[in-house]
Amino acid sequence: MVLTLPAHPDHVTDRLHTSGLLAELAHGLGGPFHYLLPDRFDSNLAAFRTVLDDAGVEGRVHYAKKANKARVFIDRCATAGAGVDVASLGELREALGHGVRGEDLVVTGPAKAESLLRVAAQQGALIAVDALDELDRVLTLGLPRPPRVLLRVHPAAQPNSRFGLGEEDLDEAMRSCAEADGQVRMEGFGFHLSGYDVQQRADLAGELVELCLEARVLGLQADRISIGGGFAVDYVPADAWTRFLDRQHPGDYHAGKEFTAGDFYPYHSPVAGAEALRGVLAARPARSGPTLAERLREAAVMLLLEPGRALLDRAGASVFTVQGVKDREGYGIVTVDGTSLSLSEQWFNSEYLPDPRLLPAHPGRPHPGRPHDGAPYRASIAGASCLDSDLLTWRKIAFPSRPQAGDLLVYPNTAGYQMDSNESPFHELPLPPKVVIDHPGAAARPRWRLDH
Ligand SMILES: *Cc1c(COP(=O)(O)O)cnc(C)c1O
Repeated sequence: MVLTLPAHPDHVTDRLHTSGLLAELAHGLGGPFHYLLPDRFDSNLAAFRTVLDDAGVEGRVHYAKKANKARVFIDRCATAGAGVDVASLGELREALGHGVRGEDLVVTGPAKAESLLRVAAQQGALIAVDALDELDRVLTLGLPRPPRVLLRVHPAAQPNSRFGLGEEDLDEAMRSCAEADGQVRMEGFGFHLSGYDVQQRADLAGELVELCLEARVLGLQADRISIGGGFAVDYVPADAWTRFLDRQHPGDYHAGKEFTAGDFYPYHSPVAGAEALRGVLAARPARSGPTLAERLREAAVMLLLEPGRALLDRAGASVFTVQGVKDREGYGIVTVDGTSLSLSEQWFNSEYLPDPRLLPAHPGRPHPGRPHDGAPYRASIAGASCLDSDLLTWRKIAFPSRPQAGDLLVYPNTAGYQMDSNESPFHELPLPPKVVIDHPGAAARPRWRLDH
């Protein structure tokens, strides 16, 4: 039984893949590259806003910038008037430099550097305070206008999280803000949960609405909450995913590598993206009383979101050229012109599972000496480095034909965290450039530009 995990059908990328453009780019750029589809980012953003409107909830979307380094997505945020969630001075500068207004930035991350806090406060960004000593540093910045802060709450449902203020610290932080005599604008509370549990998010959001009401008694502004990111992305269909989880075993991978099913990213999610937000807003915190949307409206609390991965769903892919193929006992090893550093999941004891798509350089031409018998050719995908562990895919992918040098291999849907979070110029290999394709479906021949 050959297990496949094809990405959901995508007519726009199908057309791009048969346009000939990718082979030209591989030739012209001389190595692997990523392509980006910013239109998809726009529509994902619009979908989140529609859900907020449908629920009658005042909200703001802040794109979590760490999910991709490309500039084009920041440009899109600036154009659409969306915010950006940044966690370093570099990210903050990028966002400001591309036209996102300071007041539309949320600054998250632990123990933020003084330099980051200072610029953030000067630009009127909302600082998510993660610890008491950090709050002290914010309170002593001594700037003419009071910094805007949000207090990040440690989630009781995820006790091992290293982020956020525990109950006692939270009390103390609220008191400090109240006593700061106008030196700080305490605008509310926030959290970011790992995983994709909708009810867990609604439960904690409900608690944060209550906290806002308590903080207002102390004279604090407390009129917004942030529920962070963590809106799932649905990469592959349900049946393929269930079959895969049930049946995958070490024999499916190069070197008999063992993966624990529970360590895989959930590549199928029945409810994903903006629909997950719809679920959170319709859920009843603590499973009783009014919905979260109703509570937000009643308490006049604004909802801030920080989606990363979900805004990048289907907004990019990674393209490699096959450099060589060798046959092993029962399968092959395809070596491409890049490394697994361009697929970050490979570095978390896990695997990026959506099947890469083979685009033959000469479709229809059988491999010399290997009559095509219709059986799939199974192969793992290795990187062009000298590391034995550098595999883009340990799994033996079932290809319709034996790949050949010069063929392209396209990893689908890699914009969210996969393509560039781990990239380095290892082996003096250049970083794969990012190619922006603006309206891939609009013209017979798609046009491209580099992401600058
Ligand atoms: C990473 C992160 C996000 C984005 O998470 P996604 O799962 O990509 O939506 C949002 N907020 C904070 C604080 C984060 O650290």
